[in-house]
Order: sequence, then structure tokens, then C-alpha cells
Amino acid sequence: MTRVVDRLQPGRTVFSVEFFPPRNDDEERILWKAVRELEPLDPAYVSVTYGAGGSSRDRTIRTVGRIARETTMPPMAHLTGVDHSKSELRHVVGSLANEGIRNILAIRGDPPGDPMGEWIPHPEGILYADELVSLIRSCGDFSVGVAAFPHMHPRSTDLETETDHLVGKIRAGSEFAVAQLFLQPEYFLRLRDRLAARDCHVPLLPGVMPITTPKVLNKFQHLAGVPVPPEVSAVLDPLQDDPQAFRAAGIDLTTKLCERLIAEGVPGLHFYSLNRAKATREVVDNLGLAEGVLQPA
Ligand SMILES: Cc1cc2nc3c(=O)[nH]c(=O)nc-3n(C[C@H](O)[C@H](O)[C@H](O)COP(=O)(O)OP(=O)(O)OC[C@H]3O[C@@H](n4cnc5c(N)ncnc54)[C@H](O)[C@@H]3O)c2cc1C
Repeated sequence: MTRVVDRLQPGRTVFSVEFFPPRNDDEERILWKAVRELEPLDPAYVSVTYGAGGSSRDRTIRTVGRIARETTMPPMAHLTGVDHSKSELRHVVGSLANEGIRNILAIRGDPPGDPMGEWIPHPEGILYADELVSLIRSCGDFSVGVAAFPHMHPRSTDLETETDHLVGKIRAGSEFAVAQLFLQPEYFLRLRDRLAARDCHVPLLPGVMPITTPKVLNKFQHLAGVPVPPEVSAVLDPLQDDPQAFRAAGIDLTTKLCERLIAEGVPGLHFYSLNRAKATREVVDNLGLAEGVLQPA
């Protein structure tokens, strides 16, 4: 199976797409519509998040397995250490391998229910993501990525120590890192500089969520703790009651953010798709990232 890093080549920016596992038949249909609409654009890989509960976790495994079997896109599974012993984690990695999955994003995860609640490790589990990276690598030939935080993880106390921890999980055996959302490219670029200053040069992929509605814009603050900067508010606040104009301006702002990142030489853009294709397609199209591949009708 294609490894994520094989699709990240110097001198060219690619894009990837993140999905979450569907919770019912309707969501399954919506997800697969998005998958089919994005496939002709040849994303470098597509990833599926890992939830907190047992059935959602099985759906992650089923969904990446189906992507591996039924599409041309290299899949990546997210895996978290929440409520798992190390032996359960090895079992999940084995299930992923049985589905043909070789790319895994290794994440510690948050306590279920309250992301900022006390992190209580499973008595036989992992404490931090670096241990999960090592565990996955010990299970076989997997390409492992980790999460990175341009605005600093909410549990961290300072950027330098946090960057040391990020370098620690990369040195534990990860080949790339995927960044949390941000709206100001400087935060991402400073993170890249801090890694470079530590002689750490694995591909760092910015996370991008196309701004389509006020609700999506709120997710930056509420899901990722990312403040909406004045230059973004100045454009979008006056359009709150005009959905079409808001969407057009949001896609324009997202495109400009991506253009800056491409000019800065990022190897790929990782789109948080919310299981819809339209906005990602629009931005990818604006950027010309799928030129030369078959465009969907
Ligand atoms: C790209 C991306 C994808 C995500 N996908 C999912 C998903 O599928 N499912 C899900 O539930 N959540 C997901 N999340 C959210 C993630 O679970 C939370 O942000 C979680 O709180 C952090 O996970 P982590 O792997 O970065 O943790 P860690 O790297 O373990 O870091 C957690 C905190 O501990 C500190 N730390 C790290 N290592 C050490 C160490 N060795 N010693 C001391 N302190 C340390 C860090 O600085 C940080 O403050 C994702 C986040 C991102 C950015």
C-alpha cells in the first residue's frame, strides 16, 4: 500500500482529506458521496478519525478498509490511546493491517465527554502519543504520523516545551505531522521554524477547514481554541445574515490562506472536510491542485 510520505514530494503541493466515521446509514451515504466526488481529484491520501466509543471505533476500521478496497485513494486511520490497554491497541493495529491499512495517525486523544477533563491513562495503556508511535512501529511496517498544534495544545504551558514533545514523538518513529486548524499562517510557519531549529525536518502538513458558514467559523474557536483574527472578522462579520456572500468570502479567505502556505513551500494541505466534498473541491480547484487529473462532472 502507498505510504503517505511517498505522496509528499519536494517542489509540489498535494492535498489530503479527513473524514469522520459515519454514525448511521444516512451519514454513510453522505460520506460515500463525498468520497466518490473527491476521488477523481486524486488526493494524496484520505484519513478517517477515531472516536471514543466501541461502535464508532469499529466504524473507523470498516471505513478505512472499504476505502482501501473500493477506491484508488491511499487511506490513513487515526488511532488514539483513550481507554485502550497496550494489548488492545496492538489488536486494533492488527485489525487495520488485516484491512490493508499501513498509514496510521498516532494520537493520544482526549478524555471522552470533556476534552479538557483530567487525562486518566488506562492502567495498562499509554501516557503520551510518543508511546503510541513506538507501539505501532513495533507492530510492523507502518507509516506513522502525529498531531501538531500551531497555537499550542491547550494542555501545554509553553511553546518551546511543547515543540520538544512534538520532536520527541517524531523521533519515536513518525514520518510526518498533521497540524491542527489555524487562521493566521504565521502560527503554522513559526511552528515549522521551531521544528527546523531542532533539526527536525519531517513533512508538516497544515490543517485547513474551508470557511463556509458562521457555524464552521465557530469551530475554529470551540474545537481548536483558535481565535478569529480581526482581519477575518472584518470581512465575515458583516455577512453573518447573508449565507451566500458569507460562503463566497469564506472560500476566498481559505483560498488565500492556502496560497500563502503553498508559496511557503508546504508539501500538502490537509482538509478537514466534515464529510462533504463541495467546499474542499472549490478550494482545490481555485488553487489548481487537481489540474491534470480527471475532474468530476
Ligand atoms: C490532525 C489531528 C487529528 C486528530 N484526530 C483525532 C481523532 O481521530 N480522534 C480524537 O479523539 N482526537 C483527535 N485529535 C485531537 C487530539 O486527540 C487531542 O488534541 C489530544 O488532546 C492531543 O493528542 P496528541 O496526540 O497531540 O497528544 P500528545 O502528543 O500526547 O500531547 C498531549 C499533551 O501532552 C504533552 N506531551 C506530549 N508528550 C509528552 C511527554 N513525553 N512528556 C510530557 N508531556 C508531553 C503535549 O505537549 C500536550 O500538551 C486530532 C488532533 C489533530 C491535530
